[in-house]
Amino acid sequence: MDMKYDALALFSGGLDSILAAKVVQDQGLRVLGLHYVTPFFGKPHKLDHWQRIYGLDLTSVDISAAFVRMLLNPAHGYGRLVNPCVDCKILMLSHARELLAAYGARFLISGEVVGQRPMSQRRDTLNLIRKQADVSDVLLRPLCAQKLDPTPMEESGLVDRSRLLDMGGRGRKAQLHLARNVYALPEIPTPAGGCLLTEPESAGRFYHILKHDPAPDLTDFQLATLGRQFWAGAHWLSIGRHKDDNERIQELARPGDYLFDVDGFPSPLALGRPLPGQDWNRETVLDAAALMASYSPKAVRSGAPVGVAVRHGRGVDVVRVTPGRNTSLPWVEPDTVGLKEWKLECAEARADQTRG
Ligand code: SF4
Repeated sequence: MDMKYDALALFSGGLDSILAAKVVQDQGLRVLGLHYVTPFFGKPHKLDHWQRIYGLDLTSVDISAAFVRMLLNPAHGYGRLVNPCVDCKILMLSHARELLAAYGARFLISGEVVGQRPMSQRRDTLNLIRKQADVSDVLLRPLCAQKLDPTPMEESGLVDRSRLLDMGGRGRKAQLHLARNVYALPEIPTPAGGCLLTEPESAGRFYHILKHDPAPDLTDFQLATLGRQFWAGAHWLSIGRHKDDNERIQELARPGDYLFDVDGFPSPLALGRPLPGQDWNRETVLDAAALMASYSPKAVRSGAPVGVAVRHGRGVDVVRVTPGRNTSLPWVEPDTVGLKEWKLECAEARADQTRG
């Protein structure tokens, strides 16, 4: 790593993260943006484009494994859906702190704005994040610095406090003014965050894993982002929508999974993943085969029972089913019904753990 920097910035690609980095760069300091990536957020394919149009050095940092561990039991709970924003910020900042020495950098930058988000950007929450990430001595929040106590970087003169900002609240007017009139950014990202954990459809998919699997791993969440998802109680079936999904499903398959492919007709690939301690009996396999075959238009049009190759372990069994969605198991696409109650149960379990 040849390049040395003065500061590392959390760079999501959202407007606040761009502006926070630019405000510090504007003072003649060298800034490297860290673009954190997990199965839930991150667009590493856009780094080159962003570097070019925003004039920032950027690098992507994959924290998938640590993020998934945290997601299973976030100390500060989930936000509106399954987004553990407070723990997410703590994780990224404490991880970024570990990277400071490698880049010769002296402080961290985050684009948070006091009062912008109800849960994760309240003043008391910003203080808690700073303390729990152990970054009180190195974290600068340039967009709202003048609303906060001076940091060591400002006190030492490394950063000129008078050129930092005093943004606050939920509006975006001040950010848009800065983006258009000061930095003339060629692209201004829309406010939608791009984190799947905050989007209802994806959150429903992840919620079912969190609810039914006591110890999911990274590949479970990667699988949940693909194709069509179905759950019948704790039985989980993924069906590809197109070639890319099918290829990815194949890659993510692991011993113990069931892989379904209609014999003699073009069809999606489907994967049934038994959860720990769960057995798929023959009725479940036939049911899943009939459902996945119903997504092969040619198999459906044949109007007759079709063969579905079912790979499990080292064996392949061909079962005969009539393609159809009127199955005996109640397969449904996952949604967020019951999420609120589940989160309350999680919060109670966490409180019990804390009480000891
Ligand atoms: S919205 Fe997603 S990426 Fe952003 S802080 Fe929350 S969990 Fe993290």
